[in-house]
Amino acid sequence: MRVECVWCGPRDESEFRCAGPVTEPLPSDLDSLTGVAWARVLYQRANPEGWVDERWLHAAGCGQWLIVTRHTVSHEMAGSRPARPRIASL
Ligand SMILES: [Zn+2]
Repeated sequence: MRVECVWCGPRDESEFRCAGPVTEPLPSDLDSLTGVAWARVLYQRANPEGWVDERWLHAAGCGQWLIVTRHTVSHEMAGSRPARPRIASL
């Protein structure tokens, strides 16, 4: 599978690490969550069939984070965009 890096162009999937789908932000009232509610936040994630936005790190390339739109059944990729402005190498 080829992944389109915004900065490096199309590269082999083996150069990347997928960090999973872009999820909703954490609830604002974290201190009031019960154990069951915390378990839902941490472990119960949607697993949709279809197009999802995922976070991918170009670990063996530029080291930048991308948002890749991927179909969870066919693995077709519809494009990528920066997860944030490019961070200069240290
Ligand atoms: Zn890259």
